[in-house]
Amino acid sequence: MQVWETVSDWKSRRRALSGRSLGFVPTMGALHCGHASLVERCRTENEIAVVSIFVNPTQFNDPSDLERYPRTMEADLAMLKNLGVDDVLAPATQELYPQGRRFRVEEDCITKPMEGAYRPGFFPGIMTIVLKLLNLVRADRAYFGEKDYQQLQVTTDMAIDFFIGTEIVACPTVREASGLAESSRNTLLSAVGRQKAACLFHALSNAPNPEQARMMIEAEGLTVDYVEEHWGRRFAAARLEGVRLIDNVPV
Ligand code: AMP
Repeated sequence: MQVWETVSDWKSRRRALSGRSLGFVPTMGALHCGHASLVERCRTENEIAVVSIFVNPTQFNDPSDLERYPRTMEADLAMLKNLGVDDVLAPATQELYPQGRRFRVEEDCITKPMEGAYRPGFFPGIMTIVLKLLNLVRADRAYFGEKDYQQLQVTTDMAIDFFIGTEIVACPTVREASGLAESSRNTLLSAVGRQKAACLFHALSNAPNPEQARMMIEAEGLTVDYVEEHWGRRFAAARLEGVRLIDNVPV
């Protein structure tokens, strides 16, 4: 496994890979079983598996969230090596934003509710970094989790609209035994908080309507940002112990 820290080194490597099928999994690191499931699928469906680890500053509207975001590079690289990954992109911010924040991608439909409404600047930040990475990697397929369903939807549409030529592959949400969706932010919760947080999944799955789901989540002591239904799914975002959690299920 090779780790690339500069865009120019990666570009040379990419040229050498021409003609081979290439799969890509973009991540922000602090890797868990959810990430591993994407990487395993990427590994089986492509000759070359590429993973990026980059905590993208432009998608954080809260500076303390960016600061607290877990960073576990050494353990991440060990996991990716075990999973048989060929290449890891781990560039510094200056490499991916050589002109700072001058340019950004915006979308006017799917990104308006939910995360778009509650986290100003989040989707422009996500879409901008995903576009940069997809252009750099030029993968045949890129793998995204249904855990971040709104992000998956807008990325799928962006790839089509900008003729990117990478197929966006949707992967199911991986959960802990309690039902809690695996997330890098789960490590910031206390043991008790982690148990309470599982109510998100159970409320979304079992409540007869969004209002009841909200009440079930609040009864566990979480502060709910929203429970909404879109695209045949039910979504929630809630905060606990200063950690923001999101989840969604089909309805
Ligand atoms: P992140 O590192 O949080 O930016 O996530 C990188 C990719 O992993 C995104 O496509 C996420 O949707 C996906 N992902 C994160 N958590 C899970 C999970 N529990 N199950 C499946 N995919 C996930």
